[in-house]
Amino acid sequence: NAAPLGHSVIPIVNKLQDTFAQLGSQSTIELPQVAVVGSQSSGKSSVLEALVGRDFLPRGSDICTRRPLVLQLLQTKRKAGGTEEEYGEFLHLPGKRFFDFNDIRREIQAETDREVGGNKGVSDKQIRLKIFSPNVLDITLVDLPGITKVPVGDQPSDIEARIRTMIMSYIKLPSCLILAVTPANSDLANSDALQIAGNADPDGYRTIGVITKLDIMDRGTDARNFLLGKVIPLRLGYVGVVNRSQEDIMKNRSIKDALVAEEEFFRSRPVYNDLADRCGVPQLAKKLNQILIRHIKTLLPGLKSRISTALVSVAKEHASYGEVTESKAGQGALLLNILSKYSEAFSSMIEGKNEEMSTS
Ligand code: GDP
Ligand code: MG
Repeated sequence: NAAPLGHSVIPIVNKLQDTFAQLGSQSTIELPQVAVVGSQSSGKSSVLEALVGRDFLPRGSDICTRRPLVLQLLQTKRKAGGTEEEYGEFLHLPGKRFFDFNDIRREIQAETDREVGGNKGVSDKQIRLKIFSPNVLDITLVDLPGITKVPVGDQPSDIEARIRTMIMSYIKLPSCLILAVTPANSDLANSDALQIAGNADPDGYRTIGVITKLDIMDRGTDARNFLLGKVIPLRLGYVGVVNRSQEDIMKNRSIKDALVAEEEFFRSRPVYNDLADRCGVPQLAKKLNQILIRHIKTLLPGLKSRISTALVSVAKEHASYGEVTESKAGQGALLLNILSKYSEAFSSMIEGKNEEMSTS
């Protein structure tokens, strides 16, 4: 059940956080938010689920995501004895723990209906869900309603403009990573996802292109040129994925089986063979990990200087006490010295990790 997202970042973040917790500061590593954008039914919810590695989001051929879902992943300590407790808790139902992820999906649907009715209504009022698990890192994912052109059901005539405004309010934040999801069985050059992501992030520093549904492209066509960035260039590039089809969902195919099927899909298509680093959910997770590691690296100098400042002030205090080595201040200086060495070690560990990733 290990979540592919953050898999290689979790140990680094954990150690850093343990270290800095001893300095008396809480969570010092603030990771960016990740939001999915794209047209309706492009596979946004499916991509998020695959990244988290659990089934819990409403998905389907109709409009399913009708309110923004802010999904906060929170890492819990692994219990001795190995029983892994994973559960969800909604902001609107405080104290109620959902251990069955199917119940989480049902509650998202029910809470959507409570706010906007059962007839395809859309609202910008968030649903907030926390997932507690030892297998995740502290990161926030946002599942957004898709861009739709023609109002249906209870949707107002300006539905497209409303949804675009809602999406922009999330992805315009400089700290938001954008997964721009485009289905391969549509006109890729006219992607809504890439268009709106381009408005929010014109230089492309925080947009990853995701091409879904490679399995249902028109016979004789493929997404090669798109994955290579030859159609619409994107600084951070593209990853092609194959998620579960509607039939897979109805048959309750697991995420694990779907990942195996995806791997088999790419292996059996010669046209994608030399693009292995741009194909598959694990590659998408890897790309996100690299971005997170880069982000942590930019935070490190600030963390280090905080340690140094604390070290200097404790050393001064220590000196003012004279020779009393058993004093609190003396112990504090010792501890800070050790922490500062840790911090150095982590920096080089992250450097090493990054090299290992970029050369693999
Ligand atoms: P969203 O509206 O963008 O969140 O899209 P969903 O994740 O709800 O997916 C819409 C429909 O497309 C569902 O029926 C999914 O099963 C299906 N789907 C998503 N990705 C793929 C894919 O890669 N291949 C196939 N065959 N179906 C997919
Ligand atoms: Mg959705």
